[in-house]
This record gives sequence, structure tokens and C-alpha cells, in this order.
Amino acid sequence: MTYLSTDKVENHFHDVVIIGSGGAGMRCALDLADAGHRVAIVTKVLPTRSHTVAAQGGINASLGNVDSDHWHWHMYDTVKGSDYLGDQDAIEYMCRAAPRIVRELEHQGVAFSRLEDGTIYQRPFGGQSLKFGEGGQASRTCAAADRTGHAILHSLYQQNLRAGTHFYQEFFALDLITDENGCHGVMAWDIANGTYHLFQAKAVILATGGAGRVFKVTTNAHICTGDGGALTLAAGLPMEDMEFFQFHPTGIADVGPLISEGVRGEGGYLLNSEGERFMERYAPTAKDLASRDVVSRAIALEIREGRGCGPNKDHALLKVDHLGEQLILERLPNIHELALRFAGVDCTKEPIPVQPTMHYTMGGTPTNRHTEVVYTDGDKQEKVFPGLFAIGEGACVSVHGANRLGGNSLLEIVVFGHACGVRVQEYLAAQHYHAPLDPDCWKTAVQRVERWFDSIQTGDKEGTRATSRVANVRARMQTIMQDHFSVYRTEDVMAEGVKAIEALVGDLRSACIDDACRVFNTDLVEALELENLMALARVTAAGAHARTESRGAHARDDYPERDDVNWQKHTLASIKDGKVKLDYKAVRTIPMTVDSFPPKKRVY
Ligand SMILES: Cc1cc2nc3c(=O)[nH]c(=O)nc-3n(C[C@H](O)[C@H](O)[C@H](O)COP(=O)(O)OP(=O)(O)OC[C@H]3O[C@@H](n4cnc5c(N)ncnc54)[C@H](O)[C@@H]3O)c2cc1C
Repeated sequence: MTYLSTDKVENHFHDVVIIGSGGAGMRCALDLADAGHRVAIVTKVLPTRSHTVAAQGGINASLGNVDSDHWHWHMYDTVKGSDYLGDQDAIEYMCRAAPRIVRELEHQGVAFSRLEDGTIYQRPFGGQSLKFGEGGQASRTCAAADRTGHAILHSLYQQNLRAGTHFYQEFFALDLITDENGCHGVMAWDIANGTYHLFQAKAVILATGGAGRVFKVTTNAHICTGDGGALTLAAGLPMEDMEFFQFHPTGIADVGPLISEGVRGEGGYLLNSEGERFMERYAPTAKDLASRDVVSRAIALEIREGRGCGPNKDHALLKVDHLGEQLILERLPNIHELALRFAGVDCTKEPIPVQPTMHYTMGGTPTNRHTEVVYTDGDKQEKVFPGLFAIGEGACVSVHGANRLGGNSLLEIVVFGHACGVRVQEYLAAQHYHAPLDPDCWKTAVQRVERWFDSIQTGDKEGTRATSRVANVRARMQTIMQDHFSVYRTEDVMAEGVKAIEALVGDLRSACIDDACRVFNTDLVEALELENLMALARVTAAGAHARTESRGAHARDDYPERDDVNWQKHTLASIKDGKVKLDYKAVRTIPMTVDSFPPKKRVY
């Protein structure tokens, strides 16, 4: 083991360190920097490469530019969409804040598309209704063509540069500095020059995004490896509801890139091999704009019953050409390009081959409505872990419950990014000094990296280099997750999956990298990401296997009904003494000011 001396660790002091420069991290940083705090963003990629940049269809807010919408109906749709697993206080907070926060984005520079009268363009999206489901389809999703995330992320980045946020870009967060008093900082690796950095802070905010790369076929970028979740588990804290991964109905078949729900919002629809608009059978009212879990299951069933398209009968077709070339190129230019590049299809003339593709991580680091990270102590009381906050896709606040509605994630990241900025300022008012640190606090992180450099020698011992390479172990993990925890789940298949994932933990311990260089070592970064993915795969598998019901994205053939008596509760999964441990906590069913929405059968 080399490198184990403190003089090799560079020290930084900030009031607040935010890990992640996606929409959540940047919206939060803006509040704090504007208030005069010394804020740092640590991010493993260049800020504008965060996955938020890929968001297409838009962001929900009941602006009522197209119809007479209301936040209370948005709240109702979100609670129903969550399959009654969402926390209703957080949902109320988000839906009420939406119109204000979206108008604020507009003033921060986001170039939204426009309606004829100059107001923000809004399109219909899945699961949206007026008048608590009685008033027909709502048009609630505010869009900048089909590049809404790009517009938001770039505006927020520019605002942060103005406000003086410090960016440590291409720094990989390795370990949270925690003790019994809370979180005091983070250790990171500078990818560009291979050095260690200790960031001391009064508050640390996890804003590290989703974990889509746990699965083989996903719409998520390669960087979506759930690192914040793994940091949470490593700190001895639980992860919430990780069995709920959303499959988006329309990823491009075989390859995964997303075809936004905005396409169906604009009037596109799905066809099976018999040329039938099959969604009319599964969701007679909402049809192609039913919520995502419903549409994904419908496609999976059509394929299973032999009505899939193509030579392998393994996908559905998304028809858009009837919308006309002008509308497609104006409202859906990105989709047109993606279909051309990834499927070789000109969608102004032919339908796009699509299949359900892993898209969104509903679970995450548990927080309360104020974005403070929480855990349950021995007496089953919920407690705040001081100094640690979580926001964005990597957090579970939980506004999406068992199934997220399209357009609600961009909303979540800005609403709770802002809420976090406000709460952290209150917290900082009582924190006059940086906490004293354990002099050895940097060691775990350094050992975590150095063991991979050591693996270059040891990995070859039994001539097993090819199978023990990181890429090989990762491919096996992704295949297990894809095959055993997909759109439909059953007892036997999941039990096998849990066993296979646990067996792979040993293989990860003896895995190896090849590249000994300390400068831009992507082999090393992928190894660290694989460690993170594996931790999340383990808690996902265990949580899914244990949940004997169907709810939202967790659909079981052997337990097809939702079971509110036994299972209207959040899963809390932690890793203790090397083993996954499951616990549960109640859903917060009482909103802030309005009446609760009790569970009902979900029909669209
Ligand atoms: C293709 C696609 C289209 C989408 N379209 C929509 C849409 O139209 N509407 C909608 O509401 N939602 C959409 N979503 C979902 C939404 O975009 C995301 O949930 C949201 O943008 C996540 O934002 P975030 O800030 O939480 O994380 P991200 O934007 O993913 O950012 C994560 C950040 O964490 C950093 N990070 C991670 N790990 C580390 C580490 N170890 N060290 C340092 N830094 C780290 C990364 O560098 C990055 O800056 C879409 C998602 C995808 C994949």
C-alpha cells in the first residue's frame, strides 16, 4: 500500500460541499452562493454533462396556460401515480411550489417554448388530469422543445458562475467524513491528476443522481451509478425503496436511448404487430398517456403474447409520422435525431421501434420534506443525521413513491434543490465552526482507491484476469439485474437473482483493473463506480424479493394485487456486517394543509 500519508491529502474548507452538479445540486448551490456562503460543488464530470442535460419532455407545473389547471389536481395525480407510496406532505409541498419555481427558472434564463399568446408552452404528459381525474387530460408539462433539461442545466450553471460557486470538476467523491455527531465533509479523488482531497464543511449535500446503470439496458448516462446511495450505505445509513426502478415504455429497442413521453403527448401512439392501438384495451380513457408503469406492462404483455414487432417479435412501434414533418422538427427535433442515429429510422416517415427500458430510480437516500437525511433508531423513532442532506434523483423524499410521473423529476430537483438551500442556511446559522476531525478520517478513502492499484498485480494470480476485470463483473451484475428484476417479477426468479448478486460480491473483492496510471484513470473510476452499483444492486434485489405485492413499478406475477394492509410502507435497506438488512417505515399519508388522498384502485 502506497500513498498513506496526510501530506498527500490536500485540504479545503467550505461552508457547504455539494456532491453533484445536476439540476438539484446547482439549484441548491445558487441559493447558498447568493446568500454569501462559501459553497463548493464537487462533480465527477464537467457540470453541464450531468444527466439533467439529457432530460427531454419537460417539467410539470399547474400554470394553466392551456387549460384551467390547479396544483391540487397535480397533487392528486402524483399521489395516484405513486400508487399511494408517495409521502403526501412532500407531494403537496412540491406541487404548490411548482408554478413559482418554474416562473423563477424562466427569469433565470431558461428559454421555454412559447404558446401563441407568449406564455410558456405546456404539453400533455402521462397520468395528468383535471379535477381529480374527472375533467379529462391536463397539459401540465412546460417544455423547451424536447431539450428541457439542457435549457435548465445551462441556465443554472451560468447563474452559479455569476454567484461565485466554486466548482471542483472531475473530482470523484469517495467517502463521507462522519462520526456520531453527523457529517463533516467528504474525501475525493481528483481524476485529472490522481490526488486526494479532503473537503471539510459544516454541511454536505448529496446530489448525485440516479443509479440506472445497475441495469443492462437503460436510458441513463454511463455516469448514473448511484454513488451517493453507496456513500449513504457506507456511512451505515439506510436506503429507501430501492426496489422501485421505473421502466420507461419507450426506449429505442435494443439500445435504450429515450424517446420522450412528449412524443405521445404531441399525439404519437403505440402499435403492436397486428397494427392495433393496443393501449385502448389497457387504459380505455388515458390510452397512450396512462402512467408509465401501466404502459410498460402493456408493451411487455403484448410481446409476451406474441404480438411484438420485428423479426424477434420483441418490441412495439411508436407511430408519429401522422403529426407531420413541421411539428416533429419544431417540437421534437431531438427525438427525430435520436431515432435516425440509434434506430436508423426517419420518424417523419416510419414508426420508431421501442421497448420498456430502465429509466428512473424512485428510491434513494431517505430524507424528510426539508431534505435532511433521516434514519430510524433502535426505538423506531425517525431521526435527522446532522449535517447531511440529499436532493434530486439520488434522494427519496418521497414524492414519486412506487412510480414517478413524467415531468415530475425535473420539478423535484429544482423544488427540493431550493428547499435544501433554505434549510441549510438555517442549519448554518447555528454552526459557527468546522467540527474537529478524527486525524485518520481520510484513510478509508485512500485505502478504497489504493486497493485497486494493488489489484493490478494480484488480479492475475490464477490466470483469471479476463473474468475478474471490472468490465466483466459489471456486465454480469447488469445481466442478473435485467433478467431477474425486470418489468415483471416472480418469487423463483428473484430468489435466484438475490443469490447470484450476493455471489458476485465475492467476485468484486477479487476483481482487478489494468491501468496503473494516476492521471485520468478511467479504469479506476469504473471500478469505484462498480463498487457503488453493487451495493445498490444488493439492496434493490433484497427489497424487491421481500415485497410480496404489486405496486407501481414493482409488478409481481405471483402477487398481482396491491396490498395496502401489509405493504403501504417504505422499505429501508442497509448493509450491516456485510449483510443486507431490511426494515420498514410508515408512509406519510397526511399532507401539510389539505385532506389526505386515501388509497383507491388505480385506473387510467
Ligand atoms: C434520457 C432522460 C430523459 C429524461 N427526461 C426527463 C423529463 O423530460 N422530465 C423530467 O422531469 N425528468 C426527466 N428525466 C429524469 C431527470 O432528468 C433526472 O431525474 C434529473 O435530471 C436528475 O437530476 P440530479 O440533479 O438529481 O442528478 P444528475 O443530473 O444525474 O447529476 C448528478 C451529478 O452527480 C455527480 N456525481 C455523481 N457521483 C459522483 C461522485 N462519486 N463524485 C462526484 N460527483 C458525482 C455527477 O457528476 C453529476 O453532476 C430524464 C432522465 C433521462 C435519463
